[in-house]
Amino acid sequence: MIPGLFRLIFYLVVAYVIYLFLRLFLSPRRPARRNTNRPEPSGVMVKDETCNTYLPREEAILEKAEGKDYYFCSQECRQKFLKQRKTRT
Ligand SMILES: [Zn+2]
Repeated sequence: MIPGLFRLIFYLVVAYVIYLFLRLFLSPRRPARRNTNRPEPSGVMVKDETCNTYLPREEAILEKAEGKDYYFCSQECRQKFLKQRKTRT
């Protein structure tokens, strides 16, 4: 028996456990690597100006007008918006 060796191993195990805890609690959280092939839902809601509904930007139809981005829930709303714009000016 070599008590000194066992004590050394014991300390190493304790040190390793402390190291694991420190790493778990102190390390800056690295953002999980995301699948770049699939666009991540941004969670951004956009407003359909025609029917005043909010919908996720990914699902909206984008219409660029006068340097501004307009979003619509459907082609119908987009057409309505375009008609309104024409009559307004
Ligand atoms: Zn709409």
